[in-house]
Amino acid sequence: MNQPMPRNDTRRRISIFGATGSIGCNTVDLVERQGGAETYEVVALTGGRNVALLAEQARRLRAGIAVTAHEECLPELQARLAGSGIETAAGAGAIAEAAARPVDWTMSAIVGAAGIVPGFLSLAHGGVLALANKETLVAAGDLVREKAARHGATLLPVDSEHSAIFQALVGEDRRALERIVLTASGGPFRDWPLARMAAVTPEEAVRHPNWSMGVRISIDSASMFNKALEMIEAHVLFDMPPAAIEVVIHPQSVVHSLVGFTDGAMLAHLGPPDMRGAIGYALNWPERRPLPLERLDLAALGRLDFAAPDDVRFPALRLAREVMEIGRGAGAAFNAAKEVALDGFITRRIGFLDMARLVEQVIGQMERAGEFATAPASLDDVLALDAAARARASACIEEMAA
Ligand code: NAD
Ligand code: MG
Repeated sequence: MNQPMPRNDTRRRISIFGATGSIGCNTVDLVERQGGAETYEVVALTGGRNVALLAEQARRLRAGIAVTAHEECLPELQARLAGSGIETAAGAGAIAEAAARPVDWTMSAIVGAAGIVPGFLSLAHGGVLALANKETLVAAGDLVREKAARHGATLLPVDSEHSAIFQALVGEDRRALERIVLTASGGPFRDWPLARMAAVTPEEAVRHPNWSMGVRISIDSASMFNKALEMIEAHVLFDMPPAAIEVVIHPQSVVHSLVGFTDGAMLAHLGPPDMRGAIGYALNWPERRPLPLERLDLAALGRLDFAAPDDVRFPALRLAREVMEIGRGAGAAFNAAKEVALDGFITRRIGFLDMARLVEQVIGQMERAGEFATAPASLDDVLALDAAARARASACIEEMAA
């Protein structure tokens, strides 16, 4: 009774959450280059409003189910997949249901807090969770690690920095790890004076000098909130104290990050700024397979530059340290407040520098109210902290915009 049916299909079962985004499309691209539906049994693909793309991906990869996040997009998805035999569904509940379908490998590439639940649920399959959605680790780090350990799931970071660190640590004695150095391009406003930064527009902030990414993470890179999330991500993933996590500005984005050991040696990971490196590593782990990346020509590059980050112009870095010191319950609030602040900036209700002010206010208010006194014991606790922070952040925006 209750024995799973034996499978005589040897294809690896995979699901991709956020398949239509920047990371998602790159994942689909690599999956197709490695044989697509011949090599992989694609259980579920999810997307948002770009239903045409989602339907096309689902047909090409012969997915079991295609899910759009938006109920109002379902009729179009159904029409586009009519006669294909591919199941369709819509809404956050349907995405969660898709995440509960067993697979060997999951890509979590939904942007923002909406990615937390599907990633968390995927851990129950005990396979590999390729985690691009860093918000999951920032908001629910301890719970994610505990659940992964309980189900024997492997967490593979799909962030260029964390993939670099993960790769640099293969075969190393983790007790000898002394420091982690995250590289940061510094974004488009790296050298801008504060007065000029106060007036930047969303259009200027979205233009990343080196990486091609989704709109939200591109603006987070310009404000360094992305690096702030990544500091917390590293803190959780590699179990290192906040003081052992450093950030260095590296405008060329060629060194993806470094680790330092107790003997003073450092190991760096280098590569072109192409997320298919980190995605492909996670897809093929523990093997390495050929990837269609440009090869670096060091002589042509000539030089690699490094500089200390400026905490005054980029207060997000200081805030990340404070959040790590407060404890991991603060991560959920930090991420949620940041998302609301980002929405406020994108919709031009608040200025670029107001984002950090707003997040600092929310964290301060919640700390004084004792809301971080106990660590979240369940995902519901995390989601409650997320909601509380959003409510406070929205109130702050009303005040700032008034
Ligand atoms: P994106 O905006 O390009 O794509 C996001 C995907 O999530 C899309 O498929 C979209 O339809 C879906 N989505 C958006 N809102 C949703 C919701 N409420 N419910 C369900 N699905 C929703 O984003 P991206 O740049 O690919 O980033 C995805 C994740 O990967 C983020 O967490 C980001 O921080 C992380 N990441 C991205 C990069 C990069 O190079 N793009 C690098 C490192 C980490
Ligand atoms: Mg990154």
